[in-house]
Amino acid sequence: MAAAFLAAHGINLDEEMSKIQFARNGEKPEAYLGQSTLSKISGVRLPHKQSNTLWDISISQGCISAIDPHAASHASTSQSPGVLDATARLLASSLCHAHIHLDKCFLLQDPKYGDLQIREGSFEEAMSLTSTAKGRFTEEDLLRRGRQLIEESIAFGVTHMRAFAEIDEVVECACLDASLQLKDEFAGRCDIQVCAFAQLALFSEGCETNHSLMERASTMASVDVLGSTPYVESDPDKMKKNIETVTRLALRYKKHLDFHLDYSLDREKEPMVWHVLNCLKETQWRKNAEGRRVTLGHCTRLSLFTPEEWRKLKREIGDLPVSFVGLPTSDLFMMRTETRARGTLRVPELIKDYGIRAAVGVNNVGNCFTPQGSCDPLSVASLGIAVYQDGTQEGADLLYECVSSRAKDAVGFESTTLDLNIGEPADFVIFGREQVEWRTRRSVTEIVYDAGHSKRQTIKRGVLVS
Ligand SMILES: [Zn+2]
Repeated sequence: MAAAFLAAHGINLDEEMSKIQFARNGEKPEAYLGQSTLSKISGVRLPHKQSNTLWDISISQGCISAIDPHAASHASTSQSPGVLDATARLLASSLCHAHIHLDKCFLLQDPKYGDLQIREGSFEEAMSLTSTAKGRFTEEDLLRRGRQLIEESIAFGVTHMRAFAEIDEVVECACLDASLQLKDEFAGRCDIQVCAFAQLALFSEGCETNHSLMERASTMASVDVLGSTPYVESDPDKMKKNIETVTRLALRYKKHLDFHLDYSLDREKEPMVWHVLNCLKETQWRKNAEGRRVTLGHCTRLSLFTPEEWRKLKREIGDLPVSFVGLPTSDLFMMRTETRARGTLRVPELIKDYGIRAAVGVNNVGNCFTPQGSCDPLSVASLGIAVYQDGTQEGADLLYECVSSRAKDAVGFESTTLDLNIGEPADFVIFGREQVEWRTRRSVTEIVYDAGHSKRQTIKRGVLVS
């Protein structure tokens, strides 16, 4: 049915699929992209517009050039090559992983790591099992698992992602090299920022190699982001040194900066976010970083902040390009306390009450840090309805933005908003029809409540990529 539908619009599905397969084998998919370029998507439902009205989106040079009411007289143009008839399905801005670990995905499913299953579920066990797994990583399985994650993500509507690739004395640059290869392989279908990431300490005893690997990764032109995990250092002084060193490297080599920060629910622990901000001011980040962004992930300790502390944080951030990424699926599983309290950054509150830039992300897929869940960013938005306890239409729309436009903004990609303004990138996801017609989602709110089971179509810069 899909083949016949696409054939009617000048697209040969078999030919296109063979080209996608080609791309999986390592070739860039330009040929595929060239023939799937759309000039118009006709008959779509749009967010923030009446659900019983259909619209036509015109695309020029990969951007939205016009949005007009869909009229019956337009039916003839929907038969033209380059025109996709959306058959009254809902279209919205595409999705983005603001924070995802590409190298350690699917470890719990992959037979190669079948003996490394969770027995306790503690952070220490996750670190230990993942460290054992990392000792077995090869280029073949890094590419195979990473490629699977990216393909599944694109099918869910993801066109952009920030992918974390670990560097340490066990894997050295193997994860980074594989991630950079995948970034190149998927160019055109998904924009991938690669973050050279130190999950292990840089300054605690025996960590000299990790530090020198980070310095080496900084000089690599295709690395977009430098990231580290200050909280794994053995004391606060070393945590601060970690923050200072990685900030200076990012500034020197013009990279985005991304810290896994303040990952605790312990009031006695000094939040490191203040030191990050001091560091950014001392190094005159805004003036010297040429538009690079700073992104802070987890930050569960900040969920204990008082309103006055949040207001102070907003003042201290000032005009610095700082964003927060909440990772609720991981936090709720991994954040253990003696009283069994759970905590995650209250992302909608940051945005609405304090005007702080924030998004939510998937973080890990199928490993000991987060065994549950898929790589669909909408599953995290959906979880957010309960976690942040806001089931209103406005609340659901905000959560959609948190895995779409706000996620892209948090990591420095150009965004397409839910308003779909003229001139914005034609980066879209079209949601499918359900078998029972009245169950077909007609609004973003319905999608966030439950995205449904139907297949989505993904459009990147006006090109049908899935
Ligand atoms: Zn992470």
